[in-house]
Amino acid sequence: MDYLTQRRQALVKNLKKDGVDAVLVTNPVSVTYLTGFTGDCSYLIGSAKQFTLVSDSRYEEQIKEECPGLEVHIRPHDQTTVEAAVDLLTKAGFKTVGLEADHATLGLQADLQEKGSKLTFAPVRGKVEALRAVKDPSEVEAIRAAVRAAERAFVMFRSMIREADTEKDMADAIEGYVRRAGGRSCAFPPIVAVGERGALPHAPPTNRQLGDGSKLLVDWGADLLYKSDMTRTFRSPFGTAPTRRNKQERVGYNFDEIYQMICDAQDAAVAALRDGVPAKEVDAAARQVIANAGYGEYFTHGTGHGIGLEVHEAPRIRANSEDVMATGMVVTLEPGVYLPGWGGVRIEDDFLVTRDGCVRLTSLPRDPGAIG
Ligand code: ZN
Ligand code: ZN
Repeated sequence: MDYLTQRRQALVKNLKKDGVDAVLVTNPVSVTYLTGFTGDCSYLIGSAKQFTLVSDSRYEEQIKEECPGLEVHIRPHDQTTVEAAVDLLTKAGFKTVGLEADHATLGLQADLQEKGSKLTFAPVRGKVEALRAVKDPSEVEAIRAAVRAAERAFVMFRSMIREADTEKDMADAIEGYVRRAGGRSCAFPPIVAVGERGALPHAPPTNRQLGDGSKLLVDWGADLLYKSDMTRTFRSPFGTAPTRRNKQERVGYNFDEIYQMICDAQDAAVAALRDGVPAKEVDAAARQVIANAGYGEYFTHGTGHGIGLEVHEAPRIRANSEDVMATGMVVTLEPGVYLPGWGGVRIEDDFLVTRDGCVRLTSLPRDPGAIG
């Protein structure tokens, strides 16, 4: 059985337990995951007996290429996708239909209920998301490809940055390098933060120039359908002492000490990451290192998250997470501290969880000075 068929079978395995006869998958990411179809505006109807992709004529040829063997219903142009889906669900004799609770909007539910008065729609929670959290070998390979593209892009970026480049210039450059390295785009708008702006974990790029600070934080990833997500923080190659130009940056912290602490925190999380471990324990391992060094209050976000078709997906590796690590999950580990006025240091790499540990999917040195 191929991976797509396996995913669809897993989705409908316990429909009775969910109290529904069928599911109507409306989230385009879920549709892609279950069918391989990469377009949008299309729904998947799934039941124990049958799967049907409901789409329109714009996608007819693409679906033939991407989803060989899948039953497809191309709706006529005078019918909406909602009307077509309701029609098919009613004709199939379904009574109760599950909807993805975390995606279906109130508007969509109202439309479905209005058109399908004989159907009952019930929320189904986290089902596709839970399947997506554990990657099959084809997905791991796709993420590896996204990692390779991101890393090749970074090497080009690192060798081309200039003192006069603004954060915006650098973010644009990364976009270009990611595409040149084979990505269809960046996985998300890159974060490029000069000097003390690194204290904003999600700093939007400004006109601040690289030469205006002593260090640079870059958070970027490639999108090749599957995503990668990495962060590197490094000293500016254009001078690191507080100078006339970077005087906005407060001194008082030692970059090398903080950098080493973040490396140690990531190493502690790596050592904790394996099948069966609660995500919050992985988070605690990193957090403890930073707290022991006296910077606990400056580590203001979770230690990591799943990556896949989306850049943030299950599982969540944070203090309040109920998730448990499982073989096949692919997650980031990205401890960081953010010191107002001075800047931030974050290091982020991508890992595959295995039965007795994890495999680092990223290979870019943590010290980007080592790239040359
Ligand atoms: Zn991340
Ligand atoms: Zn990131």
